Amino acid sequence: MRWVESGDVRLALYEQGDPAAPTILLVHGYPDTHRVWDEVAGLLDDRFHVVRYDVRGAGRSGAPRDGDYGYDRLAADMSAVLDAVGEPGVHLVGHDWGSIQSWNLIGRPGIKERIRSFTSLGGPHLDQAAHFLRHGSGREVAGQLMRSWYIAAFQLPVLPEAALRLILPRGLERLVRAADGVAPRDGHPADTVVQDALNGLGLYRSNMLTGRRPAGSSGAGSTAETPVQLIEATRDPFVSSALLASTHRWAPELWHRRIPAGHWVQRSHPRTVARMIAEFAGHIEGAPPSRELRRARTGGHGPYADRLVVVTGAGSGIGRATARAFAAHGAEVICADIDPDAARRTVDGIVAIRTAGGGSGVAHAHRVDVADTAAMEEFARLVKDRYGVPDIVVNNAGIAVAGPFLTHSVDDWRRTLDVNLWGVIHGCRLFAAQMVERGEGGHIVNIASLAAFAPSRLLPAYSTAKAAVKMLSDCLRAELAGEGIGVTAICPGFVSTAIAANATYAGAPEGLSREREKEVAEKALAWRGYPPERVAAHILRAVHRDLPTVAINAEGKAGYALSRISPALLRRLARLTGGREISGLADKR
Ligand code: NAD
Repeated sequence: MRWVESGDVRLALYEQGDPAAPTILLVHGYPDTHRVWDEVAGLLDDRFHVVRYDVRGAGRSGAPRDGDYGYDRLAADMSAVLDAVGEPGVHLVGHDWGSIQSWNLIGRPGIKERIRSFTSLGGPHLDQAAHFLRHGSGREVAGQLMRSWYIAAFQLPVLPEAALRLILPRGLERLVRAADGVAPRDGHPADTVVQDALNGLGLYRSNMLTGRRPAGSSGAGSTAETPVQLIEATRDPFVSSALLASTHRWAPELWHRRIPAGHWVQRSHPRTVARMIAEFAGHIEGAPPSRELRRARTGGHGPYADRLVVVTGAGSGIGRATARAFAAHGAEVICADIDPDAARRTVDGIVAIRTAGGGSGVAHAHRVDVADTAAMEEFARLVKDRYGVPDIVVNNAGIAVAGPFLTHSVDDWRRTLDVNLWGVIHGCRLFAAQMVERGEGGHIVNIASLAAFAPSRLLPAYSTAKAAVKMLSDCLRAELAGEGIGVTAICPGFVSTAIAANATYAGAPEGLSREREKEVAEKALAWRGYPPERVAAHILRAVHRDLPTVAINAEGKAGYALSRISPALLRRLARLTGGREISGLADKR
């Protein structure tokens, strides 16, 4: 630690990492100290020169005798820090009040030339906030005001001081634990938190609701010249998404990223925050952008632009149509199938469509047997190493074994459960783990079926596996919601694909030969005339809207409704699904 003089205040400055490396300057918020950044600083100091300081009135830094915490003084403090660091340019990162003040300071001559990039967390430009309060929709403004009531309360005399003395530090510890799931640790909240909070009231009183525009404010409509990375913590109880939505107006060179987290995101998700800071600073220094960074900047190349999508069973039917649909909307799609030639044909089709101007997506073919644990682990590793963490995974690969229960061999059961259930389990466990580790959310789609809730006499193993897939999806959805990862179970009725032609016929049901059964099944699916492309469209919509369960087509919807209204009727109908009835139906067509 060393001291930096700024007028009548001495600021405590902390540095770590190689001073020759690019400098990251971390500015804390209210009522924190530089120690709120401990984890992030520790994750950055192998590649960066990391600088932190306690802002005036916080931690070991002195408090101004005249109580002036206005922007001019804060600008003088930052200038003094930049002088002491002596770098021509730094990458500035601000959290909460550290971000609010930085938005103002990066517009000031003398500072703006020395800021190479700015990463903002949990604190908007105050001009932006004022503009939002004046022009935002009534509901959104009311929502934000509910989050910001304390700002008005802090303007009152004496009362806030008394309240803060009463509730701190336990109140803050409880808030951080409840809202962010983060336990207090040495340095956060700091030992000095009560005095820091009392001093820091000056930030609110000097800069907010004063009725005058702070000196150096760039004013509504004016914009930052610095490249800005906005990291939005989507569950921040103090800053709403609606308020941040217009950030691009204040920063035309904006990268907008999201972390499913609360306000103290650098404590709850230090790895994700450190990675985002490093990626952004690295990119501004000249490194090519990561896919996630590219995506944070894109907007116009389709809703799935720069999304990485994995589709299993992409060589045929629903998988092929889904891979094509994502690619047509700009995604990079990994088409995985046990049949490598079929996967390759899907990729060729995507390339042909792109060449003809029908989409901007890229696709790659890979062979994998979803039932093979080791192969799936290897595949997941390969995807991560070669392409990155997928944003969307569609566990689609599936097979059908048809015939009565008593004709199913043990191998029939094993293979059905291995592909249809274990394949989905592997896809979920391997890729969900990657998504959670990355900390930027994602979506998993599991292809179940009408068979998940409608019993039949013809598909006992298949239906059992699909029911398990539906339940797995619901369990996983509950578990991963907190990570910003959506899980959808897709339940189509009959879809005209090759599944019947590819199916195994375990044994002829009463009154039907195996050949006849296969013929009837193929005929019935073809006759149904429901194309896989329509299922794919439902899948894209389900991901976009984060839907839990989507029943598709008339029989899919009717089956789903009946399973909730009258399971007994479904059970009765199941008795009809024997060989004679099906054969009779097929002959009539
Ligand atoms: P399909 O037979 O046309 O395609 C399935 C694809 O999965 C094929 O390319 C196949 O090679 C691949 N595959 C099979 N086993 C695999 C494995 N072990 N590893 C990797 N890939 C494998 O069938 P479809 O109708 O497109 O089926 C896709 C999914 O939709 C399946 O899960 C199926 O159960 C489900 N589904 C289909 C229907 C329907 O009526 N077609 C209805 C409801 C649900």
